[in-house]
Amino acid sequence: MSFAQVHTRSIVGLNAPPVTVEVHISQGLPALTMVGLPEASVRESKDRVRSAIINSGFDFPNRRITINLAPADLPKDGARLDLPIAIGILSASGQIDERVLGDFEFVGELALNGDLRGITGALSVARAVKGCARTLIMPKINGAEAVKVADVGILGADNLTQVCHHLNAVSGVGGGEKLTPMIFTHESTNPVYTLDLSDVKGQYHARRALEICATGGHSILFKGSPGSGKTLMASRLPSILPPLTDDEALEVASVYSVAGVPYEFGVRPFRPCHHTMSAVALSGGGSRPKPGEISLAHHGVLFLDELPEFDRKTLEVMRQPLESKEIIISRASAQVAYPANFQLVGAMNPCPCGYHGDPSNRCRCTSEQVRRYQDKISGPLLDRIDIHIHVPAMPIDDLQNAPLGESSAVVRERVIKAYAIALNRQGKPNSQLTPSQIDTYIPLGIAQKQFLATAQSRLNLSARSYHRLLRVARTIADLAMSEQVEVAHLAEAVSYR
Ligand SMILES: [Zn+2]
Repeated sequence: MSFAQVHTRSIVGLNAPPVTVEVHISQGLPALTMVGLPEASVRESKDRVRSAIINSGFDFPNRRITINLAPADLPKDGARLDLPIAIGILSASGQIDERVLGDFEFVGELALNGDLRGITGALSVARAVKGCARTLIMPKINGAEAVKVADVGILGADNLTQVCHHLNAVSGVGGGEKLTPMIFTHESTNPVYTLDLSDVKGQYHARRALEICATGGHSILFKGSPGSGKTLMASRLPSILPPLTDDEALEVASVYSVAGVPYEFGVRPFRPCHHTMSAVALSGGGSRPKPGEISLAHHGVLFLDELPEFDRKTLEVMRQPLESKEIIISRASAQVAYPANFQLVGAMNPCPCGYHGDPSNRCRCTSEQVRRYQDKISGPLLDRIDIHIHVPAMPIDDLQNAPLGESSAVVRERVIKAYAIALNRQGKPNSQLTPSQIDTYIPLGIAQKQFLATAQSRLNLSARSYHRLLRVARTIADLAMSEQVEVAHLAEAVSYR
C-alpha cells in the first residue's frame, strides 16, 4: 500500500471541522510536498515528523511523498497535524495497517524525539469527535481537558511509538501494548472561590448593588476614591453569581482550551484589564485569531479598572459584543466567531486626582477638570452600563471596627433564588430582556407610570437608559420575591443612575 488516509481536525473559532490527511508515496527523487492550504506552522511539521519517525525507530521512506490536507479551502494552522501526518506516512509505507485507521482520529504535536506535546483546542476536538463513532487519540497531557466531554472514546498517548503499538495491537499485527482509555470525569460545577465577599466590610449600598448585578446579569460602574474598595468588590462578583450549568462550563473551558490558557473547570471567569491593553488583546485577533479578554470573560466578569484612562478606540470594540454576546473576527481566509457573553464591571476615580467629593477635602481639581475627566468615557458606553454606584472611602476607624460582611455563600443563596424566578418567567436573565419583553414581563400600574414620568423628565433619560432602569427594577422586585414591580423597586433602580 502506498496510499493512506487519516482523520484529524482543524480549529476554526471554537469549532473543530474534520480534515483528512491523504499521504501518497511514489517512485521518484526523495521529496516531501504538502498541498491543501497548509499555513507556515503546518509546513514546518515536515521536519518534526521526519525526525520523530526516525527517532522512534521507524523508517522514513526515501521516496517521493505527497501530502494533501482536505478540504483545501479550510484554514489549517498549528502543529496539531503532526501526529496524523506521521501516522499517514507510516501507514502508506506499510509500517502500520491502513485498515484500522478509519476507526480513529488523531491530533498532536510531535517533538523531534517522537514525544507528543499538548495542543490548543483539545476540548473543541473532543466535542467535535463525539457522535462520529471514532476514537480520538491525542497527547495524554490534553486528557484533563478532553475528559470533560461525555460519551466520546479518548486514548491518551505520550509518544508516537505508543500510538503505533496501539494501532498494531488493534489490527493484530505485532503484539504491542494498547493505550488505556481516559475516563470521563464529571466535576462539580460548584467550585470554591478563594475571594469571599465577607472581606468587604461596611459598604452596604455597594454590596447591595453588587447583589442586584449578580442576580440580573447587569453591568455596573463603581465610582470612588482610591482605596475605597472598588477592585475588592468587583473581584468578588464571580463568587456570588449562580453556578455555571454543565454546558456553560464546557463553553468557557473550550474558549480557554483554544486560547491555551489554564482554566479551573466550572469557575466563573474574572478578567481584570488594564487601560494600557490593546484593542486586539481585548477583542481577540491576530494573524491566527485567538480569543481576547472579552471571550476569556465569557459567562464571567470583565473588569475594566480606571475606565476613563482607556483609549476610546479600545473600548469601542466592546459595543457590538455587548449587544450580540459574541465577537466576529475577520481575516483574509475566514471569519471566526468567539462567544463574548460577559458581565461588564467598570471602576473609576471621580476626578484626575481621585479625591473629588472625599470627606478629606484633599481634591484641588477644578470643576472643569472633573467634568472633562468624567466625559472621557463615551456616552454610548456609559449608556450601556445598568448600575452606577458611588463607593465612599471608609474612615480607618470605621473599617477597623466594622464587623465582617455577609459571606459570599449567604448572598449567593439569595441570588440563586431570584435568578431562578427570572429564568422560570422568561428563560433568561433580566439584563437580556428585549424592549417588547419588557412590556410583557414588567407590567406597570398607574402609580408606577406616574413615578417613571417624573423620573424621566427629571433625569432626561434616553430610551435605552429607560429600558435599563426597568430591567434593574425587575431584578430588585425578584430579589424581594415580588411578582409586581412596585414604586419602591423603581425608586431604588433610579438611585443607581
Ligand atoms: Zn481631584
